[in-house]
Amino acid sequence: MTFSIHGLAVARGIAIGRAVLAVSSRMEVVHYFIEPGQVEAEILRARRGRDAVAEELQRLQTDMPHDAPPELAALLDVHLMLLQDEMLVNGVKHWITDRLYNAEWALTTQLEIISRQFDEMEDDYLRERKADLEQVVERILRHMRGVASPVAPPPSAPRRQAEAGAEAEFLLGGAADAPLVLVAHDLSPADMLQFKQSVFAGFVTDVGGKTSHTAIVARSMDIPAVVGARSASQLVRQDDWVIIDGDAGVVIVDPTPIILAEYGFRQRQITLERERLMRLRHTPAVTLDAQAIELLANIEQPGDAGAALRAGAAGVGLFRSEFLFMGRSGRLPDEEEQYRAYREAVEGMQGLPVTIRTVDVGADKPLDKGYKDSSLNPALGLRAIRWSLADPAMFRTQLRAVLRAAAHGPVRLLFPMLAHVSEIRQTLAQVDLARAELDARGAAYGAVQLGAMIEVPAAALMVRQFLRYFDFLSIGTNDLIQYALAIDRADEAVAHLYDPLHPAVLRLVADVIAEGARQGKSVSVCGEMAGDVAMTRLLLGLGLRSFSMQPAQILAVKQEVLRADARKLGEWAQQLLDADDPAASLQAP
Ligand code: PEP
Ligand code: MG
Repeated sequence: MTFSIHGLAVARGIAIGRAVLAVSSRMEVVHYFIEPGQVEAEILRARRGRDAVAEELQRLQTDMPHDAPPELAALLDVHLMLLQDEMLVNGVKHWITDRLYNAEWALTTQLEIISRQFDEMEDDYLRERKADLEQVVERILRHMRGVASPVAPPPSAPRRQAEAGAEAEFLLGGAADAPLVLVAHDLSPADMLQFKQSVFAGFVTDVGGKTSHTAIVARSMDIPAVVGARSASQLVRQDDWVIIDGDAGVVIVDPTPIILAEYGFRQRQITLERERLMRLRHTPAVTLDAQAIELLANIEQPGDAGAALRAGAAGVGLFRSEFLFMGRSGRLPDEEEQYRAYREAVEGMQGLPVTIRTVDVGADKPLDKGYKDSSLNPALGLRAIRWSLADPAMFRTQLRAVLRAAAHGPVRLLFPMLAHVSEIRQTLAQVDLARAELDARGAAYGAVQLGAMIEVPAAALMVRQFLRYFDFLSIGTNDLIQYALAIDRADEAVAHLYDPLHPAVLRLVADVIAEGARQGKSVSVCGEMAGDVAMTRLLLGLGLRSFSMQPAQILAVKQEVLRADARKLGEWAQQLLDADDPAASLQAP
């Protein structure tokens, strides 16, 4: 039966495909595709995990004290029985063999399927066995954790629905030629990176806000996504047909042929619109009144430089270097590894400037999936520059790597979440020290411009002082909105209050842009606001001349720029600043 689920529209476009369920967030597992040649080894790994648990349970039975309650022995029997359950064993084999899931993913997918069957049972006793099955699977996962096979790159499968073809059929073992859409309770930014090269045509998650990092990575992959869809991972079943409307934030499950045809039509229209926009790629971004506008790209990995160039970016305005640090089980990248990554991005941009932001971990960007931040409130805790300054040796390792990469092309160094002048001084002292260390070694490095993110209201209010220390500023509106309005950017429960057009937010943004202009220093916006075409004219009117966004948005924003008269927009934007409800007057003159 057709039904729809409403969430938040975060990455545009329409995806139509079959659902692939990722595990519930309680069991933190890594998902990846194996190579066809690894199937036997992967099945063996799953079996070894199972055998180890069987041994463990048998040992527990043997060592059970005489006075142990009889229920305990019975429970161990049940667990041993569940371990051999044919549906579990055969299901796991199926997902590994036919879908090339890694063993952990296969196990949790099959657990989900069996759990749902338990849920539908009338019998209370049987329904309760669901918890036992979960425990058994958790035990297997724990045993397998120590013997995980290396993460294989996903098979060279199609990245986009439009390209879905023979390779997808190969991947799906001929079972279906439909694209796949991923439905999960939650996906960490590291998970999303894992899927970046993979087959998924769209994403749906139960949790997350519009500017959560999971949403940002979905946008960077340029595929439709809906987050904050509450119970989608409970309602959608493995292999259900699903339409993801990333523009409206709606997920349609089990659509009728008429609905499918309608969305198929809209999908083709979107493709045509994109092709039309591609013609603007080489057109300079200049307003009707001859103001040149810099359109830059936000990237997460050095390999994203290609997408930035294809979209006609004038450089990289934000390289979120923290993505190099995630999912490494505590083993952070050393100087050489970082240097190679930054150099790849710099060379990839072919002489255009690359703005590398120092590591910004914490809050919704944990270093490792499943890592629980011990701070009471991670968004206000030891994150971003605070984390770097707390470990100066680690920080300087990154600074040295960036300085060395700057020998290969223009680099700008950007620092996240500064709020105190003392932090600025410490940061700059570390840069000097990093240079001195390179000098002592005789290593080559290049000149860099230094910039600060303005993403804490305190920094926006102190912008005059900040400009004394820095060559440029970049406004991180995602965090600036979060901290100005006290709204967790990743929490769908308060997503309706996360308002880029709140007069207080606009005031902060406007003042930073104006002060930069007064002091003749470059100010950019690199938060999601910069890539939102509904905001382009307003930001132009506030005097913004540099925008940094996901590559996929650059041409649509350029189209707005080409149609805009910045002079006229200036007066209108000033009026909007004084309005009680700027959103109501957003339609430009
Ligand atoms: C921001 O806060 O606007 C920003 C660009 O940084 P991030 O989204 O990585 O926190
Ligand atoms: Mg930020």
